[in-house]
Amino acid sequence: MFRIAYVNGRYAPFSQAMVHVEDRGYQLADGVYEVFGIIDGRLLDLDAHMERLTRSLHELEISWPMAPRALVVVVNQVVRRNRLSHGIVYVQITRGEAPRDHAFPDDGTEPSVVVTARRRPPFDLEAAKSGVAVITVPDERWKRCDIKSISLIPNVLGKQKAKKAGVYEAWMVDEKGFVTEGTSTNAWVVTDDGILVTRHLDKGILPGITRRSVLMVAEKQGIELDERPFALRDLDTVREAFLTSTTSWIKPVVEIDGRPVGDGTAGPFSLELLKLYAAYMAGAGTAR
Ligand code: PMP
Repeated sequence: MFRIAYVNGRYAPFSQAMVHVEDRGYQLADGVYEVFGIIDGRLLDLDAHMERLTRSLHELEISWPMAPRALVVVVNQVVRRNRLSHGIVYVQITRGEAPRDHAFPDDGTEPSVVVTARRRPPFDLEAAKSGVAVITVPDERWKRCDIKSISLIPNVLGKQKAKKAGVYEAWMVDEKGFVTEGTSTNAWVVTDDGILVTRHLDKGILPGITRRSVLMVAEKQGIELDERPFALRDLDTVREAFLTSTTSWIKPVVEIDGRPVGDGTAGPFSLELLKLYAAYMAGAGTAR
């Protein structure tokens, strides 16, 4: 079956889905994106993704190219036209096509919208339990990592380093020695005294939607939470660690920079959260 993409008002087979060479996304990485999870053909955490997209656009002063509700219709159409039951939908909005110049183009330049979808296997609780390894790299990004911008070079380089090292992800460490987040995931630890810790939200990290939902699920369960930075040097003493994202869900981290986390296997905390999050995804979190 052909994959179908939406590009600026048209649905087209992938081979014909193109934007102009002077699109500012291509020339200047002048745009934002959003990744929606699809479970059983339904959008996971729809409202939270739409809110974050609205905020990203606002921060970059890119106007909404269509009514937000219309974008949801397009996203659902792309899901349907690709006969997707489990996967992800990628939405990219750039400042549009204009002669290359750093400053914003003339008023009236239409933002470009691209929506694509990709199949992914459904959540597999058993497979997720085996955990992943990560390395750490310096966080060399700009100072507005809260905006989901398509300008991702440091993330790309960090992920490539992880790939070369044969591990799943690279956790980025700021100049003070604190872990900020992964190149495409949020980072979590469980301290020696059983407190769930993830970095607080500020301009230094992306406000992950999975992070938000996992916090919600954990809070409901009465798990003790602390949103604060944690240091690279503390990773030797943490009991458990895991990472979260729309594409990774929750993955226990069992090794950091070649050293085991805890006993080197997914611990009870991570496994409990995995179960709770799986139940959340199967129910309350989805919408059309
Ligand atoms: N941090 C970064 C830098 C990311 O790119 C992502 C995924 N886009 C995340 C965290 C996780 O966010 P979400 O849970 O919304 O996928």
